[in-house]
Amino acid sequence: MTRARRGLREMRGFIFDLDGCVWTGDVLVPGAADVLALLRSQGRALTFLTNNSRARAATMQAKLERLGVQAATDEVLTPLEILGRVIDSHVGPASRVLAIGGPELEAAVVDGGHHLVPVSKYRDAQAVVVGNDFEFSYERLTAAARAVAGGAAFLTPNLDPRLPVEGDDFLPGCGAIVEAVAAAGCVRPLVVGKPEPPLIELALARMQLEPAEAAMVGDSVDSDIRGARRVGLTAVLLAPKGALDGVAHYMVKSMAQLKRLVETYNP
Ligand SMILES: [Mg+2]
Repeated sequence: MTRARRGLREMRGFIFDLDGCVWTGDVLVPGAADVLALLRSQGRALTFLTNNSRARAATMQAKLERLGVQAATDEVLTPLEILGRVIDSHVGPASRVLAIGGPELEAAVVDGGHHLVPVSKYRDAQAVVVGNDFEFSYERLTAAARAVAGGAAFLTPNLDPRLPVEGDDFLPGCGAIVEAVAAAGCVRPLVVGKPEPPLIELALARMQLEPAEAAMVGDSVDSDIRGARRVGLTAVLLAPKGALDGVAHYMVKSMAQLKRLVETYNP
């Protein structure tokens, strides 16, 4: 007989998604600060794990602080934290990389020991990394698609099609741009962030916890819930509109509801 899954009262650590879970755009999700403060006061470990393709841990930590949520920089993880290492293992050290995305994506490539290739020199690229690019253009699409079609490794922080923003609205996410490159290049990308295991496993290692001791709280079934299940974590889906029963171990409609579920801590 398999051992029963531990309940949220017993979890020693929690991994929180950021967009749509802790904040929406520049506004805290109602109740998020309360539940985070409660978990901290109980002495439980916390990690904030976002699939953000444009920001490194320090930037996300600064935003948390600005919104009134206390977090150390090593409690925050984004795919950019492991991007250099993933290029190392799939392509090799000191690779030539075409980076389509924001300045922090480029900085992560360079800090990982790799070299940036300008768009006009896409044929020299050994790897193409595509993140959310607010200046995406037909020229960049052409360069990236031709490079991956020509055999360059194709990597992305995430496949999330939408970025939730204030007013129940969205911006096109990294995944929307990646799909354009994938369609034209006829190549599927390797995903660095959730739902792939490496970033989630790094979060567990930093908290010094086993998968059975931690829960992941997120609003994306494809990234958060699938990722949690892959690594063996307890999956908590934040679904304010409901109607997604069965995909996660727990489904909550609000952070206030999550707070009630973790009010008691029995480690
Ligand atoms: Mg999210």
